[in-house]
This record gives sequence, C-alpha cells and structure tokens, in this order.
Amino acid sequence: MAPRPRADTAMPAGADAAAPRTDATSAAPRPRGPRLAARLLLALALAGGAAVAQAPDYRLDPVSVAPGVFVLEGVREHFNARNGGNIVNTGFIATPEGAIVIDTGPSRRYGEQMRAVAGGKVAAVFITHAHPDHFLGNQAFAGAPVSALPGTIEAIRTRGEKLSDNLYGMLAGWMSGTVVAVPAKVAEPGRVTVAGRELELIALAGHTGADLAVFDVKSGTLFAGDLVFFERAPTTPDADIDAWLAALDRLAKVPFTTLVPGHGPVVHGQEAIAQTRDYLDWLRASLRDAAGRGLDMPEVMQQPLPARFAGMAVAREELERSVVHLYPRYEEETLRK
Ligand SMILES: [Zn+2]
Repeated sequence: MAPRPRADTAMPAGADAAAPRTDATSAAPRPRGPRLAARLLLALALAGGAAVAQAPDYRLDPVSVAPGVFVLEGVREHFNARNGGNIVNTGFIATPEGAIVIDTGPSRRYGEQMRAVAGGKVAAVFITHAHPDHFLGNQAFAGAPVSALPGTIEAIRTRGEKLSDNLYGMLAGWMSGTVVAVPAKVAEPGRVTVAGRELELIALAGHTGADLAVFDVKSGTLFAGDLVFFERAPTTPDADIDAWLAALDRLAKVPFTTLVPGHGPVVHGQEAIAQTRDYLDWLRASLRDAAGRGLDMPEVMQQPLPARFAGMAVAREELERSVVHLYPRYEEETLRK
C-alpha cells in the first residue's frame, strides 16, 4: 500500500519540488546524454504532478432538476487522476434552514467545494451507502448532522480506511487531507421532517448490505443512490442481485417525478430503474448459465454483451469486475444442485 499523504495543503511536495527547476535548467554547464534524459523525465513528472496538485478543482456545477433541488452529476468513468473521483452524482435540497445534502463525494476537497456551491449553511446530510465516492467528503460537513443506515455506519467504521487508501492510490493529490468521518447519526426509515421539508427515508439493500433512498415529497425527487444506475454499467463489489432486484421493485412504486441515479443522467420516468433491472436480470441469468456449462472466469468475462448494454459507459470493465465479484457464488450454487 502506498503511504498516505496527510498534508493538509493545496500544494504538496510536487509543487515545492518543481520550484528549483528553473535554476537547474538555467545553470551551465548543461547536463548531457542519459542524465539529460533523466532530468527531462523528472521535470515532466514533476510538471504533471504539480498540475494535479495546483488545480484540484472539481468545478462543481449544480444543476436544478426540480424547484430547489440540485444535482452535481459526475462523469461516467472509473476513478482516475484526471477526474479526481468525480464519477458520482450527489445532490442537495435548498431550504431556508440550510441545504439537505445527499452524499458528499469522493474526497474532502469535493465535500468542501460541494458545501460552498450549496450555500455554506447545511441542515442535514444523508449518506446513501458505504462506497467511497459517496461518503469521503463527510469531513467538510462537520457541525451538521450526518446520517446513514446502521449497516452503512458499521461498514464505514470497519472498512472506510481501506476504501480511502484505495482512492489515495488512484486519485493522488485530489485526496489531500481526506480522512474517514463516520456518520454519527442513525437514519430511521419512514417519513421525517428535516428543515421543514418532508422526506421519506427508504431502507433497502442489494447494491450493498444497506442502501438508503431519499424521497423529497414536495418536489417529487427520488435520490436512489447506487440502487439505480443509468447509461453507466452497475458496480457490484458488495452486491446481492436478488435483494437488489427486490429493492428496484420497491423504488418503482415511489411516486417520483424526478429520479437521481447514483451514476448517470437524471431521469423523470421509470427508464433508469428498468435499465438497471434489465442489466441485473441479464447478469444473473448469464452467470447462472455459464456456471451450468462449467465455464471458467476468463471465458465468462469474454462473453458478448447484449447490444442494448454495449452503449453503457464502462460496460465491458464492469462485466469483468462483476464476474470476479459474483461468479464464485453461482458456481457454488450449481455445485449444490
Ligand atoms: Zn456504490
């Protein structure tokens, strides 16, 4: 595991180290041959590092999806050092008592920038589930009540550090100063009034062991978390497909007029739920079929994707990852028959 940078500065080592370069290059005599090449490579590496360190700006741009309801839509990619982990949808509901925030993003910096675009004053924060792109911005919301389901709180407590380490490895300077902040408050399912706003908190599971959906009654907006993906292949590291499909049945009955998926564009009808269900149905059936035929993992990974899923972002990669996560379970199921 790479050591975790803990420095809480906007410009860590890369920028400082890059500074003496001007002196070095202007000094005579000039280095030659392999040494010059090595220096050039070093300079390029430092310049690249400095670019990330100097501009860790997510350029968050809240989009109004219903009156007083805003979404920050992430890119449909995997984590990388260019996107800084901004691959996730977060959102907030503006109220006179402050924003009601749903998910806090992948890093402290994201959380800080999100809080700024949400107006600074925060009434409450809800974390949908224990995946790092959804809760590692929690630090920025100190002072506000941060709630999650008990299973989410426990998962962040026990696995948060490891998830954070993974993002430090992939996102480098974007993660500067990020530490795990475990939600302090248990979200109780049912109707609640928060900052004068009536919310329905829906406790489900399937994408992970605990998935919270938040329905804003006044605007008809459903924040579905990662129970719903759209035009981006679902991720399954902690998935139970049977439970997930049951959760989608429940969400389909919510009288929403706007649905915010965890990843992918906001919709106003059932199409995102339907697509997630269609994909999970297909994935489960194809894993069962492959297990029945005794295929090995690489063979299952290479199976063709149905045309209707081929256009989903990161479809092939997510299929490969899902085979790793889920296939052993279906092989065991076949053996038990
Ligand atoms: Zn997730």
